[in-house]
Amino acid sequence: MSQPADYLDAYRKDLLDVFGQPALVLTEGSGCEVTDAAGRTYLDLMAGIAVNSLGYAHPAWADAVAAQAHRLQHVSNFFTTPQQIELARTLLEIADAPAGSRVFFANSGTEANEAALKAVRAHGNAREPRARRILALEHAFHGRTAGALAATWKPAYREPFEPLPGGVQFIPPTTQALEEAMGDDVAGVILEPIQGEAGVHPLPEELLLAARRLTREHGALLVVDEVQTGMGRTGLWLESLRVLGDPGQRPDLITLAKGLGGGFPIGAMLALTPEATGALAPGSHGTTFGGNPLATAAGLATIRALRDEDLLTRAREVGAHLREGLAATPGIGAVRGRGLLIGADLTAPDDERAAPAGPDVVAAARRAGFIINATGPNTLRLAPPLVLTADQARTFLDALPGILADAAPAD
Ligand SMILES: *Cc1c(COP(=O)(O)O)cnc(C)c1O
Repeated sequence: MSQPADYLDAYRKDLLDVFGQPALVLTEGSGCEVTDAAGRTYLDLMAGIAVNSLGYAHPAWADAVAAQAHRLQHVSNFFTTPQQIELARTLLEIADAPAGSRVFFANSGTEANEAALKAVRAHGNAREPRARRILALEHAFHGRTAGALAATWKPAYREPFEPLPGGVQFIPPTTQALEEAMGDDVAGVILEPIQGEAGVHPLPEELLLAARRLTREHGALLVVDEVQTGMGRTGLWLESLRVLGDPGQRPDLITLAKGLGGGFPIGAMLALTPEATGALAPGSHGTTFGGNPLATAAGLATIRALRDEDLLTRAREVGAHLREGLAATPGIGAVRGRGLLIGADLTAPDDERAAPAGPDVVAAARRAGFIINATGPNTLRLAPPLVLTADQARTFLDALPGILADAAPAD
């Protein structure tokens, strides 16, 4: 079995059909390029959905994971390891966390959010009278496990699995809606600084500030989901600290995952205030794999390479270059995002022609040798490895008009 079609036949037979048909069978990668089972190479501007910040097979990352695999792969949370302790310390450093802050490790974004939501519940239940409401935003995405799903807006994801954990109220992403919904019975507010899955929509700064102020006033916790935006993707270690960087303004809880392990599954929850660190009592939460030595070694190697190669600066510079080029391309409308998390709306190129559909543009890009993503019918998302060079970004921008023409609806 070596042809893509053979693999895909086997996939259809043996894998549960929840993801739809995979577009490619990938076999190896290097830097920002990835190769499929037919031997074709693609420039990857999606990075496994904002995960592979160092691209593929980064030598320092691969060596660190291999060395750890040869030494000690897993120990459970009855024990700890130097890697786990060092990664926790490093994360608190990059968060510029106040003394007393603490880290909980999980294995994915949704699990990091489960931990945060349990902290919010426990915090609300410890109050008198109990605070039982959690506020989440329309268009939010927090994950697919039951707790995180309850705070995920898209009805098609949520409704087939109801009843889900209750008490979540969705509000429009505006300061006014938050002010109206807030009360002393609110245990916590959860939000993403940039709504990635919804099409890369940055929240208004004043909404983040209002969320911090109102949660304080009402004794609620503020949870910032940086699973997609965190770890350098937007050109900062933590996107929310662009607005909430003041020591007194930090969120109570920040969740991380996607870029954290450079492709190794790992999630983390940072608890940055006494209210947050005190919410989960000993024995009240747990995980077998969370903080595993392989995952934490991968996390450390990722952060080290991001620092050594100054990739946050690269994300800002190459991101600005990409956004500029996109905005100047006929057929591309609004361009949003920060650093290398970019959303671009598709528009009609002229009066004669309609806009192509997102998935058709993704397919046309693939035919042209590029991997990109669409968050819906009207919006493309780029979340390339942070090692992407300006020249590689230029290659894509040069090809884009042809890709859009190839994807154009037939008359
Ligand atoms: C991807 C994502 C999640 C879920 O992460 P998983 O690792 O897929 O569970 C949660 N929140 C945000 C903002 C995400 O982008």
